[in-house]
Amino acid sequence: MSILMIDKLLKELPNHVKLIAVSKTHSVESILAIYEFGIRCFAESKVQDLLVKKLVLPKDIEWHFIGHLQTNKVKQLLPLVSVIHSVDRLDLLDVIEKESKKLNIKVQCLLQVHIAQEESKFGFSYKELMSFFTSRLFEKYAFIDFVGLMGMATFTEDEDLIRSEFRQLKKMFEEIKILFFPESALFKELSMGMSDDYLIAIEEGSTMLRLGSVIFGERNYINNK
Ligand SMILES: *Cc1c(COP(=O)(O)O)cnc(C)c1O
Repeated sequence: MSILMIDKLLKELPNHVKLIAVSKTHSVESILAIYEFGIRCFAESKVQDLLVKKLVLPKDIEWHFIGHLQTNKVKQLLPLVSVIHSVDRLDLLDVIEKESKKLNIKVQCLLQVHIAQEESKFGFSYKELMSFFTSRLFEKYAFIDFVGLMGMATFTEDEDLIRSEFRQLKKMFEEIKILFFPESALFKELSMGMSDDYLIAIEEGSTMLRLGSVIFGERNYINNK
């Protein structure tokens, strides 16, 4: 992406929206080039890649995890990240709790909700999400801060469909906030919007955009091997 375009992107972001640069598959050099624009939040989807990149990149980068997380990788991941966007099942929460307790750290988690029509996207259904909160199961996780919800819209040209999925997620977010976190300032993030749909996501109330290709250009899978 050109300097001008990144400048434009940063200028058009409302103040309440945080930009997270999705650096998966991109080299340390490319990440440094983006870092030079003042961007300090980066996200990876594989624990091993995050480990390698974090080691050599500036220490003031805030790392986020956005990939499907295997329970046997949690222990390795926790010391590396500030926020996990992709908590998509209960057994994962149990492992995150167990490992963060050992480290005596609190980890910020977003629950990933399945809003797209594709079968392949991970996440809680609305029903599962509501039963998790209604049962007050979430209160037993002393080492996890529930900070919000994450979702991915259907990969489609149909903007009305994308908008309705984001709107649905925003509605769930508001419902959970009002019912279960009325006094808490922690539950405040709505992570939605990727390169192809971030303008719609902003309009529908996103607070965190996860942008890869619009910042870095097309993904570089060869470099990732
Ligand atoms: C790869 C990825 C992104 C970024 O996708 P782009 O379309 O390149 O912006 C965002 N969120 C998740 C969960 C991803 O895996």
